[in-house]
Amino acid sequence: MRLAFSVIFSAMIFVLLLCAVSAKRSHKAIGNAAAWFEVSIIPPVAGNLIIISTQNRNIAIIGYYIFFLGMNNLMFSLTRFSKKYCKMVKNGREIPKAVDILLIIDSIQILLNPLHKHTFTVQKGIVDGLTYYRLVPLIGQTFHRIVDYGIFLATVLIYIVMIVRSPRIYREKFWVILVPLIIAGGWQLFYILSRAPIDTSMIGFSVFGMLVYIFSIHYRPLRLLDRMLSEIVSEMSDAMFVFDPTRTCIWANEKGCELAEITPLCFDEATAKLTDIFGDLEPVYEQDSVKRIIGTGREIRYYILEENKVTDSDSKLTGSYMRIHDVTEEQLRLKQEMYDATHDILTGLYTREYLYQRISEKLTADPDREYLIIYVDVKNFKVVNDIFGTAFGDYTIKCIADWIRKGMTDDCRYGRLAGDTFGVLAPKDQFNVEKIEAMLSRFTIKGEKAEYNLLIHCGVYKIDKADTDISVMFDRAHLSLSLISDEYHTHIAFYDNAIREKLMWNQNISAQLPDAIETGQIRPYLQPIADKNGKIVGAEALVRWIHPEHGFLSPAAFIPLFEKNGLIAEVDKHMWRSACKILARWKNEKRDLFISVNISPKDFYFVDVIGEITSLVNEYGIEPSKLRIEITETAMMNDADSRMKTLQAFRDAGFIVEMDDFGSGYSSLNMLKDMPVDVLKIDMKFLGKSDDEKKAHTIVKNIINLSKELGISTLTEGVETQIQYEVLSDMGCKLFQGYYFAKPMPVNEFEEKMLEEAQTA
Ligand code: C2E
Ligand code: CA
Ligand code: CA
Repeated sequence: MRLAFSVIFSAMIFVLLLCAVSAKRSHKAIGNAAAWFEVSIIPPVAGNLIIISTQNRNIAIIGYYIFFLGMNNLMFSLTRFSKKYCKMVKNGREIPKAVDILLIIDSIQILLNPLHKHTFTVQKGIVDGLTYYRLVPLIGQTFHRIVDYGIFLATVLIYIVMIVRSPRIYREKFWVILVPLIIAGGWQLFYILSRAPIDTSMIGFSVFGMLVYIFSIHYRPLRLLDRMLSEIVSEMSDAMFVFDPTRTCIWANEKGCELAEITPLCFDEATAKLTDIFGDLEPVYEQDSVKRIIGTGREIRYYILEENKVTDSDSKLTGSYMRIHDVTEEQLRLKQEMYDATHDILTGLYTREYLYQRISEKLTADPDREYLIIYVDVKNFKVVNDIFGTAFGDYTIKCIADWIRKGMTDDCRYGRLAGDTFGVLAPKDQFNVEKIEAMLSRFTIKGEKAEYNLLIHCGVYKIDKADTDISVMFDRAHLSLSLISDEYHTHIAFYDNAIREKLMWNQNISAQLPDAIETGQIRPYLQPIADKNGKIVGAEALVRWIHPEHGFLSPAAFIPLFEKNGLIAEVDKHMWRSACKILARWKNEKRDLFISVNISPKDFYFVDVIGEITSLVNEYGIEPSKLRIEITETAMMNDADSRMKTLQAFRDAGFIVEMDDFGSGYSSLNMLKDMPVDVLKIDMKFLGKSDDEKKAHTIVKNIINLSKELGISTLTEGVETQIQYEVLSDMGCKLFQGYYFAKPMPVNEFEEKMLEEAQTA
């Protein structure tokens, strides 16, 4: 019996050593802790081996020491191993210090036993006919047992807690440790209580140690894996189908069964069902993984099908699995996002960018058809917003959008370009000018409270080159609107070559202006101004452009454009300076003449007119009264108060202020008395239009009389005949300008003419 156990214990020690070495070499995270645990089982077993195999009292006592101290060490290792195995540090729990302290105290008290004899002694007995030294426990032994079993029970408790707390599929991991642990512990208890001579529970501990080795190092809990995998796959939101190499379905998860409408017992029907739903699956099979979106069923749903082949280590096909991912929600969300990004919120029409894209697609798809690009513009939409409020403004925009939508066919593309402009692509044969003109002539928005007649203009560009930028096409359509910008009765304008050329012209001469000023292409012509006796007393400086390419350009060719784009200020500054130069020269030559310069209403936006002109007269040292200021009555109309102040400032500075083109605008005679002007320039053109010459005469006569009374002198321009001159003279007009005297002429010509006059006088 004793021999049998000796052999068993020795074998166990050997096996435990092997386990320890193998655990150490496993390179697993738990490897070290497991190896130490294996090693720490060896001393108690060895201690027992010594006890049962010796007949010598002292050696038996040494065996007992090894056993007790070894048990302490075993408890120490058990706690270390369990800590690692249960990953307790991660949960923020550490082994309490008290455990180690108790083990140390216990070990010390055991080591002190030879001095005090308080832990144990041995008693001679006979087992199997041989001497055996049985343990006689004393008080210290009780302490030792409390410490060791306390720690042991605490460890058991930890495993129980882990089992309770862990997800179901992980519990097995703890069960496999807990059960042998309890068995080994129970076995020990049995030994203690039974007072049997041989501690057979060491077999339990050894077996436990081996189990620990197997479970912590080698055992991959297959059931755990299985369960985990099948649970993962079953609970996956995707449908999964597993096929054998012949593409017969051998398994499908819950979602898969649902999708293919099969019961879990009829997996082999799945392939046919899937083909029913998704059509030909061959393209999905062709590659390892193919994704595609398929719309199917009553309500369209979107799926991605993905097949993955499974091969064994010899690259032999062992089967495949197909994952079917329902992406309907995602697709619908994408569609909604796409819609939001491509549609105007207020009207639901395409946004500008998307419209351009759609038009471009349409033109590529249908290159042989003739198409028009239409730019729809609401005139004075700001007024609608301003008068009726933005709610009505929004409503108006919606009404226009609805009107456009109603008139469209499938061949049209339309959208909202910006606030109050819309864009349309329509086949030429579907664009009925008369019909649209008729509709636009009575386009009324009826709100709850308000009703408003809307003026809508359509600029139309016929696409001649489909590869032109869509934005350029719309620009052209837009540009054609300039033809009808002031029209109330025409609502549709077509872009044509004339517009193109005009635009080119505008662009070119605007670009050339700075250079033209610099090089003297822009220069003043002087038109004489005569007094009652026909004597030339001054001149009006009128701009001319002697263009190297286009030749002589009259102001009509560029002034209106420059008035629009603001470049007029550059022209005028140059003209003012030129006039000052001439006046400075004349001053030296003792010629007592004045020059009138023109001031455009736009000048006030771009230059400090009065500052500029006063500094010029100072620079050239001329008398302000020699530089007359011409400003049209229409210029006076905008911001009358500040203009009047400016004119007064001119007068205060000694300039003579002339009101140009009197009679062309809307100023009433009544306003005349408040106008800070010195001279009225009446243009014959404005009067001559009248059929009844007599009436015209009466008007001029009265204007002259009235001016006289107000202390304003008069100048008539556009005098072409002697009769006009004489009649005006009789009426009391002081100064005259017109072709009758001379046309505007280059400065040197004017100066020659003056010389001639001086000689004849
Ligand atoms: P405006 O200031 O009323 O200039 C008088 C225009 O009437 C000049 O035309 C002149 O040539 C023309 N004219 C003079 N006598 C007669 C006549 O007997 N019969 C007819 N039918 N016409 C006559 P022009 O030089 O072509 O200038 C046209 C307009 O261009 C000017 O009208 C003025 O508004 C503008 N303009 C000319 N030069 C300048 C300038 O330097 N600056 C600014 N801002 N505008 C200028
Ligand atoms: Ca003038
Ligand atoms: Ca004039």
